[in-house]
Amino acid sequence: MTERNNKVYDVLVVGSGIAGMYGALQFDESTSVAVLSKYSKTTSNSNLAQGGVAAVLSLEDDSYDLHIKDTLIAGRHENDTEAVDVLVREGPEDVRKIMEMGVRFDENENGELDKTLEGGHSRRRIVHYKDCTGAEMVRGLLGEVEKRKNIDYCENTVLCRLVRVRSGFRADLLCEGEYFSVFCSYCMLCTGGVGRVYKYTTNPKSATGDGIRIAYELGAQIKDLRYIQFHPTAFNSKDGEQFLISESVRGEGAYLYNCEKKRFMDRYDERLELAPRDVVSKSIILESRRTGSNNFYLDITHEDSDFLKKRFPAIYEGCMRYGVDMTKDLIPIFPCQHYLMGGIEVDLDSKTTVPRLYACGECANTGVHGKNRLASNSLLEALVFSRRAAEDIKRCMQNGFPTVAAIPVELDFSGAPVPEGIVDDIKKIMQRAYFVMPDAGAIRFGLKQIDSILKRLKGGKFAYTTKYLEALSLASVAYIVLKEAEEIC
Ligand SMILES: Cc1cc2nc3c(=O)[nH]c(=O)nc-3n(C[C@H](O)[C@H](O)[C@H](O)COP(=O)(O)OP(=O)(O)OC[C@H]3O[C@@H](n4cnc5c(N)ncnc54)[C@H](O)[C@@H]3O)c2cc1C
Repeated sequence: MTERNNKVYDVLVVGSGIAGMYGALQFDESTSVAVLSKYSKTTSNSNLAQGGVAAVLSLEDDSYDLHIKDTLIAGRHENDTEAVDVLVREGPEDVRKIMEMGVRFDENENGELDKTLEGGHSRRRIVHYKDCTGAEMVRGLLGEVEKRKNIDYCENTVLCRLVRVRSGFRADLLCEGEYFSVFCSYCMLCTGGVGRVYKYTTNPKSATGDGIRIAYELGAQIKDLRYIQFHPTAFNSKDGEQFLISESVRGEGAYLYNCEKKRFMDRYDERLELAPRDVVSKSIILESRRTGSNNFYLDITHEDSDFLKKRFPAIYEGCMRYGVDMTKDLIPIFPCQHYLMGGIEVDLDSKTTVPRLYACGECANTGVHGKNRLASNSLLEALVFSRRAAEDIKRCMQNGFPTVAAIPVELDFSGAPVPEGIVDDIKKIMQRAYFVMPDAGAIRFGLKQIDSILKRLKGGKFAYTTKYLEALSLASVAYIVLKEAEEIC
């Protein structure tokens, strides 16, 4: 048994995306913190963020009210207005703080921050680093985390489950085949999204909703998990990996083709390829039902090849990795799951309904996004609400709340391997029932199927491998999404 077994921390941060790392960095050297990363340090949604962070950094040409208004319009006014107010007014200070920590954003020729515009924003307010803002933020914050003596960074370490104990939690962990426990007085779940519940998603393999499953097991309230954002055009590779083909490719004149390599948007919307995101996604699904094929393409070969390479360097390179030269070839695309608006219900301090348990970032439901996220608001949400969680924990510690003590236990997580194909079954059910256009019949049928998968996973004696735990998380997420969807069908 390693020396890490039964270690006691003040705070356990589960996840090392932007929410987890920025949250961990709020504590000074007197607070012991552990940060877990299920896979490598850069396997996270955060690391893939392209566009940027939306924030009102100058009041000359922008205002908080305008950012609030844009957020509410995008969210179809189902947002929590108090949370939106906090996000917009406090966010700029957090962006400045991460810059002080070493995160870089592009500047224009006058040495000012280069602010860009994205769909739904009425002002240029998105700061970015080339087209890989998330990777730059992860680089900057990780550098800071690694300097801190009070933070233990645990890579390739999976939180299997949380157990409530007196004044905190016991966290049962799996690292390189070994099980052990640590204890914490407070826990921040920053485990990211749920994209891997679908076959088609931009999310990396870490996005299996583990934090949501673990919070649910503890009895925490989960809210609006059915509020899932889809993106119309992700690269559709044969190996099943998808990456975003930004909407600006259509903005620059790309045509959408069906399996017959013919344009089809005129059947569905007079704005053709420039219709809004949700309309284009739905049109693709309707066209796939009409033609019986999932083969769709973007064609921008009519544009100048030097212009394309300069305008879309990351997309060009991404396509080339799969042997597709976007200056000469059609780009295979399909809609994909992209973002989760709902999640573990939290208040303005990111507190869940379970004492001492916090949730931040994509796994949390702060209510800021309402029914639909405004572009580039999620990195901002991860910053603002993880900082607020840490501030609340600091207040509890200052008020002398009792702290946890280790109560060693023997862990026995041995058992049978998880049945092959179960995750594929879950994905198929979700693709059919709740992808872009929910299907009431498939939701009802799918819910029964997921229910029996969940019973099988929970009822059997399976070994707690990452594969099993992820299957359990995905089945739990699918169950909650379909249950919510069934209730409103
Ligand atoms: C392709 C893409 C582009 C995007 N572009 C933008 C953009 O331009 N602007 C914007 O605002 N947003 C963007 N987003 C959304 C944004 O990136 C995410 O919402 C945000 O980064 C989520 O941060 P997070 O810290 O909550 O989660 P993540 O960054 O996903 O981090 C989750 C962490 O939790 C860990 N974890 C999960 N389960 C466990 C477990 N059981 N045990 C231990 N660790 C665990 C993971 O290993 C990971 O470290 C984009 C997303 C994608 C996928």
